[in-house]
Amino acid sequence: MCLRLMKYQLEVSYLPGKQMFIADMLSRAFLKGPVKNDTENNFIVHNIDKKIPMSANKISEIVGETNNDTTLALVKKFIVQGWPKNNKSLSPELKNLFQIRSELSIENDLILFGDRVVITKNLRILMLSKLHEGHLGINKCRARARESIFWPNISNDINNFILNCEVCLKFRNNNPKLPLLQHNIPERPWQEIAMDICEFQGNFFLVVIDYFSRWIELKDIKNKDSVEVVKALKNIFSVHGFPETIISDNNPFNSFYFKNFLNEINISLKTSIQEAMV
Ligand SMILES: [Zn+2]
Repeated sequence: MCLRLMKYQLEVSYLPGKQMFIADMLSRAFLKGPVKNDTENNFIVHNIDKKIPMSANKISEIVGETNNDTTLALVKKFIVQGWPKNNKSLSPELKNLFQIRSELSIENDLILFGDRVVITKNLRILMLSKLHEGHLGINKCRARARESIFWPNISNDINNFILNCEVCLKFRNNNPKLPLLQHNIPERPWQEIAMDICEFQGNFFLVVIDYFSRWIELKDIKNKDSVEVVKALKNIFSVHGFPETIISDNNPFNSFYFKNFLNEINISLKTSIQEAMV
């Protein structure tokens, strides 16, 4: 405390407790009787209503379902009348809600957890499909849920819903993610080179890079055909010599013509798919 007060220049003087209203004014100097028709106060209270990001129709649908759901109807009762002392006699669903009871409230007849609307069991599948609209990934769906809705274990349910989404499954399998590959640095220049074809303003270029020195060669080619690529490579090899290994994509470097060319000059080819499987 001394250290904290060092930055102030204090003058300490004594004041008897009965003269110190300011310190805890609201607990000691409150108004004795109830206040009736305080329009200003009413205005303030109604303006700190929580804004629920849903249409009026959706809200009234959820209210109806909440009142029909035995678990949530009980939760409403507990919020108003007080929760039981312990959770021993409660159902598993109620036990989960018991743990967060201090953050549950009622607003516009809905049960809220913080700012999020608590959703009944029979609306959950519908809500999951709304969260996953546009087939967003798991993290984005969870972020959407955090802004609007809640139920116990909602994160797991989002996970399972997306993992079983047929549309997502179809595209996930068609587009496998290859791991990022780490290459060892070769022992000398031009031992291992990588190549790819890039397109810029309608023109194709063969890009070759040496793994040792990071030297780049760029040749413009007429098209992505392997004949064109071989022609450009011969040009490059005539300057730098033959490498031991070439690392590339499958297309067009995995074609018969290209492989034949490499065999003739004794260069080994590693395509990215082969690499990933090693
Ligand atoms: Zn999906």
